[in-house]
Amino acid sequence: MTDDKKPKGNTSSLINSVSFEDILASLPGHVYWKDRNGVFLGCNFQQAKDAGLSEPAEIIGKTDNDMPWHSRASEIRRNDRLVMETGEAQTVEEFDYLSRKVPLRDKAGQIVGLLGVSIRISEYKEVIERDRQILEEIVAIMPGHVYWKDRDCILQGCNDQQAKDAGLRSRRDVVGKTAYDLLWQDQPEKAKRQQAEITNHIDKDIMNVGIPKTLEEFVVLPDGSKATFLSKKVPLHDKKGNVIGLVGISFDITDRKQAEKELLKAKEKAEAANTAKTEFLANMRHDFRTPFSGILSMAQILESSETKSEKKEYLGYISQSAKVLLDQLNEIFEFIQSENGALPILDKQFDIHQVINDISDIMTPAAKSKNLLLEVHCDKDVPQFLIGDKIRIHRVLVNLLSNAIKFTEEGIVGLSLSLVKDSHNKVILKYIVKDTGIGIPENKKDAIFERFNRLTSSYSGVYSGKGLGLRQVKRFLDEINGEVHLKSKEGEGSTFIVLAPYKLPLLGCAEDELE
Ligand code: ADP
Repeated sequence: MTDDKKPKGNTSSLINSVSFEDILASLPGHVYWKDRNGVFLGCNFQQAKDAGLSEPAEIIGKTDNDMPWHSRASEIRRNDRLVMETGEAQTVEEFDYLSRKVPLRDKAGQIVGLLGVSIRISEYKEVIERDRQILEEIVAIMPGHVYWKDRDCILQGCNDQQAKDAGLRSRRDVVGKTAYDLLWQDQPEKAKRQQAEITNHIDKDIMNVGIPKTLEEFVVLPDGSKATFLSKKVPLHDKKGNVIGLVGISFDITDRKQAEKELLKAKEKAEAANTAKTEFLANMRHDFRTPFSGILSMAQILESSETKSEKKEYLGYISQSAKVLLDQLNEIFEFIQSENGALPILDKQFDIHQVINDISDIMTPAAKSKNLLLEVHCDKDVPQFLIGDKIRIHRVLVNLLSNAIKFTEEGIVGLSLSLVKDSHNKVILKYIVKDTGIGIPENKKDAIFERFNRLTSSYSGVYSGKGLGLRQVKRFLDEINGEVHLKSKEGEGSTFIVLAPYKLPLLGCAEDELE
């Protein structure tokens, strides 16, 4: 024996002074041993005390029939016999005690009795029972339908709501029932079976795969009404991780589904009405333009052939007014066309220099008529040929420049063009439309991009317009993944910055130069 394994000082005297019997007698809980006939051979102090004896030795020769718990003697005897007959240790609940009983063997291995240890568990049982009741209460009042099933899809429990809607008197009545039992029983047998099979199939699938699932379920309730449920079903596992069932929670979303359906119907109706409106407008466009063009050209012919100055002047007014009206009609119809998505997005090669020159030609007369200087500048590094939508950028710039001229009484209106990004055959161009006009108040900067929004009404007679241009600018840029930004101060002019992405053609030349 090494030094540290030798009993030291106090320890060795303790070993000699405390006998094994003393330890046995003082063990906590109830310890006892009996012979094959159930006759006590000994016990500890606690057992003797509860048996009303003054010391353990007094128990020798007595049986459970002689004890204060004699009314339970036969139940105890049955448990004892089981241990001795099977030769296997057993754990059993005996009224307020949890007992562990093991067979006692002699040296030859023959079972000669048993040794038992019993621990009082009534306090623990009370705590467990209290917790169980609280849990039960929580489950009972949970909202929605809560239920749990075993591996064979047999219901093992549910909350009050589920029991009520299933037409059961109590939620305990659900135990042992299946999906089939909870259906509307008056519907044809085939329909019932089909419905139950669908539910069971889904549940088994969740248990086999072992993954929770959220789904919509359509059912005919026990009262015959049809309902849609939104269900979340989760597999239940035992301690070893085996799936032993599932727990589900379902909410009745029938009303919400109905509202969705109605909304969809209303949307379809509105879309149909919108299509009808588009067709109507397309027809009106044609029907209006044809006679108007006729009036205009006739007025122009009459004006040119008229010699009397007064009549010529009047005819001039007619043709001018007709032209203004025709232009306005065209503008409105074009806007409607683009709003309805009738303008296809182009992804074609075009010459940006030519677009800028065209715009400059179109805007110059208007600028001149107001004595404004129109400055157009294109940076040298802007590639001449791009792939993109030339129609949209043309309209965007014309709209912005028209506004710039319209809302500027003196000074300069400018259009400049530069390259801001160039990577992998893709470029971003920046267009700046600048004026020295009336400017736009800070709090109106977002509103002006909305339809029919104008800061001055046309009847005030100062600036004409329909409040459609900027809305179209924004839409066209959105459609080609571009952006528009505004910098302005009231009375100090406005600057619209437009960014637009393009692809570069493989060869930077005009298409007709390719051969
Ligand atoms: P419209 O010019 O036909 O009224 P827009 O949609 O093009 O319609 O413009 C909306 C409003 O935004 C204009 O009525 C005007 O009040 C304001 N606005 C647009 N551009 C400018 C500008 N460059 N300077 C001052 N105000 C502007």
